[in-house]
Amino acid sequence: RRGVRGNFVPPIKSNGNNVGNMTSRIGGKSDDSLEDSTKRCLEMLYGPDGELPEKLRNLEPRLIEHISNEIMDRDPNVRWDDIAGLDHAKKCVTEMVIWPLLRPDIFKGCRSPGKGLLLFGPPGTGKTMIGKAIAGEAKATFFYISASSLTSKWIGEGEKLVRALFGVASCRQPAVIFVDEIDSLLSQRKSEGEHESSRRLKTQFLIEMEGFDSGNEQILLIGATNRPQELDEAARRRLTKRLYIPLPSSEARAWIARNLLEKDGLFKLSNEEIDIICNLTEGYSGSDMKNLVKDASMGPLREALKQGIEITKLKKEDMRPVTLKDFENALQEVRPSVSPHELGTYDEWNKQFGSLS
Ligand code: ADP
Repeated sequence: RRGVRGNFVPPIKSNGNNVGNMTSRIGGKSDDSLEDSTKRCLEMLYGPDGELPEKLRNLEPRLIEHISNEIMDRDPNVRWDDIAGLDHAKKCVTEMVIWPLLRPDIFKGCRSPGKGLLLFGPPGTGKTMIGKAIAGEAKATFFYISASSLTSKWIGEGEKLVRALFGVASCRQPAVIFVDEIDSLLSQRKSEGEHESSRRLKTQFLIEMEGFDSGNEQILLIGATNRPQELDEAARRRLTKRLYIPLPSSEARAWIARNLLEKDGLFKLSNEEIDIICNLTEGYSGSDMKNLVKDASMGPLREALKQGIEITKLKKEDMRPVTLKDFENALQEVRPSVSPHELGTYDEWNKQFGSLS
């Protein structure tokens, strides 16, 4: 068998001295009481010596299992070419994050990179896609967690989960930890309303970040937020590079629409029609564009059904391609989700705290 970094790992129960005893040390559970799926998750994390790394020994197996199954993504299937526009962000991220993850030997000393990156901007503009693409391009393991789930779903257990998350990530280096809605974890709103537990969670998170920031670990933390102004100073300090991910340009909107339709063989629009769609979608986010295309692509289907063809008998050839009219109809249904007022807030924050070059 092969371990995390391709090293040989001895079989699970080769003698009474290995896994059985090791897992029995985790959270005080005996090996027999662990489910097979939990054992499999732990197995993946054994070090080259066939031992569970120190950091994971006192963690509860069910948390490690949750992280391995729900939070860890071994194959984040996004590449730079899937992301429309955002050239500035792609260039910064390549230099700051991908090269250092690929060549840690060159990026040390003066060149040692920051370990925290903030992506901020309106919702649905590709922040999560960038996180996944970074992991994909740098051949890193991707961990995705929504900070609001830590405070809502994992009430009282968030700290433990955070410790387990950073522990597992350090066994799967290089690793990218993507924390969505990071503002809800590292918000500057104080005291009244701030429960003791969420304060502890925040402290734990900052401690973990401090830990890998000062070490040689190849872990990158990416925080994403639609509300950068809510972040406190400690969070800003640790997220050294802060990139504004704005709404897509007109070219990027055209690219998203064309790309989605072409994938399904539904693209037959002329350049002029695409230009018209771009003009009509000023202020739409990438995800609004996706919803718009989805709605427009229903047009041909609805029309075919109106002509009396039964859905069960409908053939793909019975449907015409998507037209400008379909888009015009869809525009009535799918409205932009970001208001111009919100955009002003991002610009201001970007001028004050963003990494502009
Ligand atoms: P965010 O994390 O900024 O809220 P996501 O990265 O989750 O947004 O994007 C949501 C969806 O919108 C994506 O799955 C994709 O289909 C579409 N999308 C958003 N921005 C882009 C973009 N720049 N290029 C291509 N697709 C995009």
